[in-house]
Amino acid sequence: MSIETVSTATDADHLSDLRRQVREVVAAAGIAPRTDSWMRGFDASFTERVAERGWIGMSWPAEYGGGGRSNLERMVVTEELLRAGAPVTAHWTADRQIGPAILRVGSDELKAEFLPGIRRGEIVVGLGMSETEAGSDLAAVRTRAVPDGDGWRVTGAKVWTTSAHHATHIYVLARTSDEDARHEGLTEFLVDSDAPGIEIRPILDMVGEHHFNEVVFADVPVPAGRALGTVGQGWKQVTEQLAFERGGAERYLSTYPLLAAMVRSAARVRDRAVTERVGSLAAQLVGLRQLSVQVATALDAGEVPGRLASALKLRGTTFEKEVVETARYVLDVCGADAEASRLLVDGLAAVPGASIRGGASEVMRTVIGRSEVC
Ligand SMILES: Cc1cc2nc3c(=O)[nH]c(=O)nc-3n(C[C@H](O)[C@H](O)[C@H](O)COP(=O)(O)OP(=O)(O)OC[C@H]3O[C@@H](n4cnc5c(N)ncnc54)[C@H](O)[C@@H]3O)c2cc1C
Repeated sequence: MSIETVSTATDADHLSDLRRQVREVVAAAGIAPRTDSWMRGFDASFTERVAERGWIGMSWPAEYGGGGRSNLERMVVTEELLRAGAPVTAHWTADRQIGPAILRVGSDELKAEFLPGIRRGEIVVGLGMSETEAGSDLAAVRTRAVPDGDGWRVTGAKVWTTSAHHATHIYVLARTSDEDARHEGLTEFLVDSDAPGIEIRPILDMVGEHHFNEVVFADVPVPAGRALGTVGQGWKQVTEQLAFERGGAERYLSTYPLLAAMVRSAARVRDRAVTERVGSLAAQLVGLRQLSVQVATALDAGEVPGRLASALKLRGTTFEKEVVETARYVLDVCGADAEASRLLVDGLAAVPGASIRGGASEVMRTVIGRSEVC
């Protein structure tokens, strides 16, 4: 099965050429593929190679040093990196949502300070949204920023902050005032991860790997210019940012290396049940990809496709769980080589969190149900 069999007709030659270039870079890097490589594959040198090709911030406007290319082109690049299970964690969050958030609402100073470094792959951002009492109910955040001279002081604790231990900066959603409506009075900040008063504590996952962290802020000084967008408008801004977080190909291609290993294994054995189950996954992948193209097209039109992104995340993470369940069956019936076994172990560790991170499936259903526009 090839992803090219489901490609759109738009600028087909150009997109195929771009796809070929990404495959060349991946092949030259000699990657050992991982399932969930956008969260489990931190490799600054690989990110540097991707940056050298101009594939970070590639869809940002040229006037801000971006690549000036379309989100459809970006989708081709991200698809190929994910298909290969390439180690892209170092730049993923900054490229996917922090850069776009700065472009949408950031000051000229923030744009100048952050966008070139993100493009070069030098800025690694950890997302400090969730807290112990604020996950699905994000407006319940208790981390607080109080004015201090020209800037702010931040106190509180974030949890499940992926890659904070590698990060140069932590994005922080904090309460800056107490309003009757609790969705008001929130503000977004970009904080240096080595600022005085920050402590980053590891949290190990169920196979003992270190991806996420607790991040504690004790009276951390933050310059005024590091507020992202409008003070007090953090809720509106973060919900827009979540459309970028939820609507990408990583919501259904994290398990692609395992799916490909399964297809190779299935090809060696004639088994009707195996063929039907793998065929069902292939059909779902086609549908998900069409949804992904719709999200990219909406982004290119300047829209914030929150509902589409939530639908993609809901269906995509359901699909990923089915990939891992099917792999258990297929690799058992048809046999697994060492790489397939390793990808399955990765997948078993990763997929339970897939329908939770970035917003739980129940919350996606609520967003889809409530939205009147895309
Ligand atoms: C692998 C992984 C990586 C993560 N990385 C990050 C990160 O980098 N940065 C970050 O900020 N956070 C991160 N998170 C945290 C993630 O965003 C939260 O776990 C998620 O938003 C759910 O919040 P919670 O864990 O507090 O669960 P809760 O909000 O307590 O929810 C528990 C259960 O109740 C259900 N529920 C809650 N509210 C409702 C409702 N209104 N209607 C119906 N059902 C409901 C949920 O669906 C869920 O099943 C990560 C999580 C995982 C698993």
